[in-house]
Amino acid sequence: MPKSPNTTILGYPRIGARRELKFATEDYWAGRIDAAALEATAASLRAQVWTELREAGLTEVPSNTFSFYDQVLDTSVMVDAVPDRYRRLTGLDRYFAMARGAREVPALEMTKWFDTNYHYLVPELALDARFRLADGAAAKPLREYLEARALGIETRPVLIGPVTYLLLAKAEAGGVEGFQPLDLLDGLVEVYGELLERLAGAGARRVQLDEPALVGDLTEAQVTAVRRAYTRLGDLPSRPRLLVATYFGAVDRGALAALAETKIEAVGLDLTAGTGNLETLASVGGLPYRTVVAGLVDGRNVWRTDPRRAKAAYAVLLGLAGHVEISTSCSLLHVPLDLEAEAGLDAAVKGRLAFARQKVAEVAALGRVLGGAEPLPAEPDRVLPAVDERVRARLDALGEVRRGDRAARFAAQRAALALPDLATTTIGSFPQTAEIRTARADHKAGRIDDAAYTAAMRQEIARVIVLQEDLGLDVLVHGEPERNDMVQYFAEQLTGYAVTDHGWVQSYGTRCVRPPILYGDISRPRPMTTEWASYAQSLTAKPVKGMLTGPVTMLAWSFVRDDQPLAHTARQVALALRDEITDLEAAGIRVIQVDEPALRELLPLRQADHAAYLDWAVAAFRLATSGAADTTQIHTHMCYSEFGEIIGAIAALDADVTSVEAARSHMELVTDLRRAGYQNGIGPGVWDIHSPRVPSVEEMEHNLRRAVQAVDPARVWVNPDCGLKTRAYPETEASLRNLVAAAVKVRAHL
Ligand code: GLN
Ligand code: ZN
Repeated sequence: MPKSPNTTILGYPRIGARRELKFATEDYWAGRIDAAALEATAASLRAQVWTELREAGLTEVPSNTFSFYDQVLDTSVMVDAVPDRYRRLTGLDRYFAMARGAREVPALEMTKWFDTNYHYLVPELALDARFRLADGAAAKPLREYLEARALGIETRPVLIGPVTYLLLAKAEAGGVEGFQPLDLLDGLVEVYGELLERLAGAGARRVQLDEPALVGDLTEAQVTAVRRAYTRLGDLPSRPRLLVATYFGAVDRGALAALAETKIEAVGLDLTAGTGNLETLASVGGLPYRTVVAGLVDGRNVWRTDPRRAKAAYAVLLGLAGHVEISTSCSLLHVPLDLEAEAGLDAAVKGRLAFARQKVAEVAALGRVLGGAEPLPAEPDRVLPAVDERVRARLDALGEVRRGDRAARFAAQRAALALPDLATTTIGSFPQTAEIRTARADHKAGRIDDAAYTAAMRQEIARVIVLQEDLGLDVLVHGEPERNDMVQYFAEQLTGYAVTDHGWVQSYGTRCVRPPILYGDISRPRPMTTEWASYAQSLTAKPVKGMLTGPVTMLAWSFVRDDQPLAHTARQVALALRDEITDLEAAGIRVIQVDEPALRELLPLRQADHAAYLDWAVAAFRLATSGAADTTQIHTHMCYSEFGEIIGAIAALDADVTSVEAARSHMELVTDLRRAGYQNGIGPGVWDIHSPRVPSVEEMEHNLRRAVQAVDPARVWVNPDCGLKTRAYPETEASLRNLVAAAVKVRAHL
């Protein structure tokens, strides 16, 4: 009988089954526990993970997948890429100051890790950066390797690869023109060399270098960097074996060819994101003398692995590589920890799911099955989702959907709404006070009944309406007090969606989210928002804006079925939203906002896939909104200012009004959007709500004047750059008062 292939995973959740790391860290920040207590919690979580993985039967267990906040930040600290402003701090205080700021020192910038919802801290590098192994023999990967070893568990330390690290970094502000972090490669590789030698000295047999940046389209300079870095590391006289792990898609062909020229022993390939990697591997003539660590179990999604599909890919790989090991497509950081904790999930849905623990078991089982030690399960045990024929038939019958001509819509809305030039509004949510959260939690736990809950929400809505009238805003909102989250709120009400009790996934630092699971055909049993919106509208003569989450964002922030193209699923969500818009109109709502903050986030990593994505994303938005009457004003909102590649798509959404983050990027996007052919209303955010600072009237006036130079004032909107749920009332009131005053002043001088 052939030997079973080795099995491993690329990484594991570190927050703990009961989010112990989150709570301990927050206790430490609040001064309730000291550093030693926090370290003790961390060590016990690490020990649990290593033990669990070993007991699951993996041949190799990873280490250094733990982090107090973020693995990119860990790398910056490890190589001493610490900007001067943090240097007077030490230890955990320095670390957390870099992560979240401290008195007088702002944090490092934070941004999304590739196309996931995990956020990392962006390294800030200067031309004269001098990397060094800051803690020498006590460097974190060494410490954790030895810690596991002391428990009798041999591990494979995981590092962020030097190329990815530099490609994710940014040049320090005000630095030298033309400098790119990648210019620092040689110095960084020397530090990695020292670390690898030390790890070898400590006994480590293999090290994993994560290089997800090799997935996508690389420039020639970047491919050269890959070759240079791994030639150098491969040539080290005494080092562990090297596994270069790529993930989140198919590796760039040039990068794979470059790796093949070096002495590294193994490459990790993501085999869940299409067949791209098998083709790329074949096109470079395979890796006949190396190991391919085959990412056959999806680390990004929650569905069980189909052993037949895994077997087919494995068979192809055997012909293309010297050795094949079985693994996950990426770290399991991106999925919840344990399905067994979900008592409330429907059994049919549960039967299709695997969370991190279950995925580890799948990897181990695949090792036995593919090695012939166990038979392939007789029947595919994946139950297919129920089909909703009614939804499918309605979508098939819809045909081409479009709204009226934009000039006609503009005229119709102007007549119907009678708004001033430079109309003022907000993005939807108002501050979520402790009372609101308590009422929601009490209702969920059954401590208060429906009537008491409704009364509490209505009271809050009424308060927010009175406040907005007092402030003099033109288009009001109900404030979203009833929403725990802009995606989960809808997921809980749509058929085809499930929500979990404990399915936490780290988003950044101690912040975790619980993405809902979209498992079947989507339908809307009853209106989802009309009750609150129409109550708010009944309290005022001014228009109240209805508030919905768009189809792309619903998918981006959920785990989504993978048995049909995302485009189909998006159309089903869009149809439900389309019905909701009809109901809102019938309830007297004349302005409706469909938020799409995740439109940019789902953009594929490869240029070649952009057009197809943007096509379906735009089509879904238009399907959702095109049933609205010409007199109904459709707004959309996005929370980023760097439109770049998606500016044309934003214009193509054809919302009547688009609000965007702009307070930090000045008003450039106003002209950018016009250039992309967008002629409808635009609300460049004039208040950066991400900080508690109250912007002055003058500052907002200045931005608005720039906007009206580029756009007809009847089409300029005045609004903050995002929702206000994370702000407190004092700064909210003061800022909105200034915002209205700025609009009034600019109007007076038109
Ligand atoms: N309407 C949402 C809110 O105001 C929009 C949130 C977002 O853009 N992320 O909270
Ligand atoms: Zn926003």
